[in-house]
Amino acid sequence: NVSVVLFTADLRLHDHPPLRAALDGARQVVPLFVRDRAVDGAGFAVPNRLAFLADCLRDLDAGLRERGGRLVVRSGDLVEQVCRVAGEADADEVHLAADGSAHARRREERLRRALESEGLRLHVHDAVTTAVGPGVVTPASSDHFAVFTPYFRHWSQWRLREPLGAPRTVRVPDGVGSEELPTRKGPAGLSPGLAPGGEEEGRERVAAWLRSGIAAYEDRHDDLAGDATSRLSPHLHFGTLSPVELVHRARRAGGPGAEAFVRQLAWRDFHRQVLAARPAAASADYRTKHDRWRSERTAGEDVEAWRAGRTGYPVVDAAMRQLRHEGWMHNRGRLLTASFLTKTLYVDWRVGARHFLDLLVDGDVANNQLNWQWMAGTGTDSRPNRVLNPVTQAKRYDPDGTYVRRWLPELEGVAAPAVHEPWKLPGPDRAALDYPDPIVELSEGLARFRRAREHS
Ligand code: FAD
Repeated sequence: NVSVVLFTADLRLHDHPPLRAALDGARQVVPLFVRDRAVDGAGFAVPNRLAFLADCLRDLDAGLRERGGRLVVRSGDLVEQVCRVAGEADADEVHLAADGSAHARRREERLRRALESEGLRLHVHDAVTTAVGPGVVTPASSDHFAVFTPYFRHWSQWRLREPLGAPRTVRVPDGVGSEELPTRKGPAGLSPGLAPGGEEEGRERVAAWLRSGIAAYEDRHDDLAGDATSRLSPHLHFGTLSPVELVHRARRAGGPGAEAFVRQLAWRDFHRQVLAARPAAASADYRTKHDRWRSERTAGEDVEAWRAGRTGYPVVDAAMRQLRHEGWMHNRGRLLTASFLTKTLYVDWRVGARHFLDLLVDGDVANNQLNWQWMAGTGTDSRPNRVLNPVTQAKRYDPDGTYVRRWLPELEGVAAPAVHEPWKLPGPDRAALDYPDPIVELSEGLARFRRAREHS
């Protein structure tokens, strides 16, 4: 008998319950990835993520070939393609990781019906793309947690399954053709500093992180120039790493750094359970409605300056340029650029979220939209009116200006603290810089924010 294993956001061989179950129950398996037309249509297909995906698929194929197998890649309507491949392989079952997103759940239902009508079974496996999946821990009075702290308490007590090793051999039936694997070279508009993808790369990164990064994470995670976070987010997004395995390994490492890191991994599951319960939160305000936002039409120049990293606030501009250059941004940068757009410029969070999704290699509807909502004060933040002052933030998290100078060559020769407030430089020094004046006074932004909030 033959099983199809449908890979989605779990592009790995280690700790892969669907693959393990398929191998246990069948002589042969078809490892399948479908480039889903609907996912591309929904805004996934941006150059940075397509390039990273290409690395992941090539690496997965290479790992399967080392074990005697290969990856089958198809594109089109996912349900049609899975049924077609199952027919070609004469398979009797399909294995798939659970995914709580509204699109994935609809797709899973459609797939189940289509397979059942042909006498095939669909097996859906939990704890593959999350450590603790949506709906696994819930409060007594609701279908999901709306506040992180109690969620985290329950999440921490949940007993995770043990991680699985990678299979030794994988036998794929003959006669199931594959499209050519995509290459990273293709898409124009790629960020030049984009990190490489793939499970091997991800596992090396984890090993290095556990060896020499995690211990200092609690103290250094906000240090913009130190770049002392794990940078595992793209690997978690594409599933080249297993969140279950990562939590186990971090807990084994122990100490305050590991604890702080595990807490961040819980945020990822937290946002997924919010979005699974309230799919509309991908675009509609989750908790508090605000309707006085400036839009792209009414604040076009400000939005353009923000996107280009030309707002005149160095730390905001540095972070926006990091995003363009690497397809990734430090979490502190994400927080303060999102605060600047939504609170200081009072622009609709959806405008910023879209720009992030266009560039972020880890760009992910649950994490991106709900973090944007958190910062915009429409989401799960218990202090929705907090405003991050970009100058204070810069002095605290980039005290000697190294991060700002790394991304803004215009300010190369300017020392801290002036590098965070170049408008304060003496006239001639200021005039010599090819760097814009602030597009808004912070006090003016704050006054607009307060007015708008009073009236919403
Ligand atoms: P680390 O600090 O090493 O954390 C480890 C892992 O924990 C991360 O890889 C990530 O999976 C998870 N994590 C950390 N912080 C958060 C958080 N606040 N919410 C959810 N998960 C978290 N993260 C994404 O993965 N995709 C996004 O599209 C995304 N958009 C964001 C937009 C905004 C406005 C903000 C404020 C944050 C966003 N984040 C997003 C969360 C966070 O910034 C990134 O996960 C983190 O910067 C990735 O870097 P890292 O892997 O080095 O993180």
